[in-house]
Amino acid sequence: PETKLPKVGTTIFTQMSQMAAEYQAINLSQGFPDFDGPRALLDAVGHYIRQGANQYAPMTGVPALREQIAGKVATLYGRKVCADQEITVTSGATGALFAAISSVVRKGDEVIIFDPAYDSYEPAIELNGGVAVRLQLLPPNFQVDWMQVKAAISSKTRMIIINTPHNPTGAILSAADLDQLAGIVEGTDILLLADEVYEHIVFEGEHQSLLSHDVLYPRSFVVSSFGKTYHTTGWKIGYCVAPASLSVEFRKVHQYLTFSTATPMQLALADIMRDEPQHYLQLPTFYKAKRDLFCSLIKGSSFQFTPAKGTYFQLVDYSAISDLPDTEFCLWLIKEAGVAAIPVSVFCETPPSMRLVRFCFAKGDDTLRSAAERLVHL
Ligand code: PMP
Ligand code: GLN
Repeated sequence: PETKLPKVGTTIFTQMSQMAAEYQAINLSQGFPDFDGPRALLDAVGHYIRQGANQYAPMTGVPALREQIAGKVATLYGRKVCADQEITVTSGATGALFAAISSVVRKGDEVIIFDPAYDSYEPAIELNGGVAVRLQLLPPNFQVDWMQVKAAISSKTRMIIINTPHNPTGAILSAADLDQLAGIVEGTDILLLADEVYEHIVFEGEHQSLLSHDVLYPRSFVVSSFGKTYHTTGWKIGYCVAPASLSVEFRKVHQYLTFSTATPMQLALADIMRDEPQHYLQLPTFYKAKRDLFCSLIKGSSFQFTPAKGTYFQLVDYSAISDLPDTEFCLWLIKEAGVAAIPVSVFCETPPSMRLVRFCFAKGDDTLRSAAERLVHL
């Protein structure tokens, strides 16, 4: 009998982190910081656990956290959303992406995604009987070709998934990009899913959220992750903001996917959002310093790159170093250089013409220095 996900194996993140551990390589593959979130946040979780906040949270999320999210959305993106009807706290952005896709994608529906595409989109589409229509971002800067998007729209197009800032390329969408998208979907019933987990890690200009766009938001699920913003990827807390009519459908799935999400973490996140609103405003400076350090350290190497515009990932072209396909190059890099990276072809239907791997620079400066020392001589 046919399996449900014949194309899928173990994720590249699990594979590469395991190999990095096995060969004691410096792990710049799977995206996670090697430092902790704010002390007050960690202490607050302990506090709430000891206080007995250890039972189910409300299905939609702890009210105090949803209020804080609504406040942030109003301040940063100029949109008043209803904390009760439009915000749902989920088990990571992964839970939100899966619930959003499952709540609207039907058998035979087409969903447009852009290669290189984050790995969780297509399996979620296919488990729901949908078909991923994979378009390519245009190298070298990985921009969207909106003419191509327009041409790919059919009567079966149910959803377009965008990701800005973009993992793995570090590209960001501009206000003009969002207007182009609006021109394409206006007058259709196409829905949008915006993966904005790196919304606070933007180095050029401002993050263009679908939340701030009057034409786009009414048809959008906008997803974010506290893991990225508070250096707590292991907590798996994310959220989805969507208009009430879409949130109703979203919650029908969410309530049976996980029902609700860890209570003490939600309470602690609500406190830190209230008490330290400057935290996420300082993230661009914090991560830009890391990006600049890593880029300056590998500048003399044979890797070619343009500094990422957002996210905590740096894409590099290794064609001056090796002719190996990227997955093999990553294995070689772990074994011979002692540094783990992520091959970009795993996010693509057809391998990109460039030879590209992704390094995560969400690491202590000493770790970045040690990794760079191993990379500059290749
Ligand atoms: N989307 C993108 C683009 C990501 O990079 C990640 C995390 N690697 C996720 C979604 C999932 O986020 P979470 O860990 O909160 O589930
Ligand atoms: N999003 C992280 C990355 O891109 C990994 C998440 C995971 O391991 N599933 O590296």
